[in-house]
Amino acid sequence: MRTTIGWRASGPTALRRTSLERRNLRSDDLAVRVDYSGVCHTDLHSLRDHDQRAIAPLVPGHECTGVVTGTGAEVTAFSVGDRVAVGNIVDSCGTCAMCRAGQENFCRSFPTLTYGGTDRRDGSTTLGAFSREYVVRDRFAYPLPSGLDPAAAAPLMCAGVTVWEPLRALGVGPGSRVAVAGLGGLGHLAVKLAVALGATTTVISRTQEKRDDALRLGAHDFLDSTDTRQMAATRDTFDVVIDTISAPHDLAPYLKVVAMDGTLSLLGYLGPVTVEAMDLLVGRKRLSSAGSGGRRSTAEMLQFCADNGIAADVEVLPSAQVETALDRLRRNDVRYRFVLDMSDLD
Ligand SMILES: [Zn+2]
Ligand SMILES: [Zn+2]
Repeated sequence: MRTTIGWRASGPTALRRTSLERRNLRSDDLAVRVDYSGVCHTDLHSLRDHDQRAIAPLVPGHECTGVVTGTGAEVTAFSVGDRVAVGNIVDSCGTCAMCRAGQENFCRSFPTLTYGGTDRRDGSTTLGAFSREYVVRDRFAYPLPSGLDPAAAAPLMCAGVTVWEPLRALGVGPGSRVAVAGLGGLGHLAVKLAVALGATTTVISRTQEKRDDALRLGAHDFLDSTDTRQMAATRDTFDVVIDTISAPHDLAPYLKVVAMDGTLSLLGYLGPVTVEAMDLLVGRKRLSSAGSGGRRSTAEMLQFCADNGIAADVEVLPSAQVETALDRLRRNDVRYRFVLDMSDLD
């Protein structure tokens, strides 16, 4: 085994710096020196669940960028020194209908998650990217296009692709009217991507103070979700509503602003929801969801971001401040994504 250093869970908010083992390189593996690792809401949920069930070791982190430091014997697409990015999926069956359609994120036997997953070949529990080294199958590493800042690009690998896939699948482009509900890690990237795709883009938020940020990010308009008059005035308006609100909430006000035959895409809150069928019936509206991305769209998203100068708005902290980042994320005190600089692990 190889050894590296990382941050391992020792409680609901506590992470301890410790040495970790990585597998020796298989023929199709890359060793990646992790330089930057984004902090995602999933990390908070995983730490909370881990504390309740105290199961396998937990090292969070599933959106990272770094540099290739070693390659397996059969790797041809990458060389030592290449800049790469890794997201929240590190393997899939490769043979089911979803995988064959390029939607490895929906693999019927479930994709292998970057942490807390079960390695398909040796059965070990995967350990995440809050660590100085990650070993990944080459198919699930992506060249980081030149021009993308490696710190600001890290969140593209989870938050970015999670909003990119539905925007693309729903055909968002010039002339589309898009609303983004919730302006956080997912929402701010949804705004940038929708605007760059050519959509007229509106942010819906209950936080008036985010109006200036919304406009700075490129949004054309801002709707205060607590203002029923404003919300009523935009009834049946948006072809696509990207809902990134992470807490449980009433979907009715957001369905009402969807245009006829339009779609509400639920990305932030993935628990049970209640919908009045009449809110779908009137206007033949659709309710959908999505998460993460397949290999093809992940690569497309990175290139689109490089071509359009898009990356996350990040606050970079040394990895030793991981608990500060998690605490502040829990309070939504970040604009808009924390990224850990892993170089302090050397
Ligand atoms: Zn994530
Ligand atoms: Zn599959």
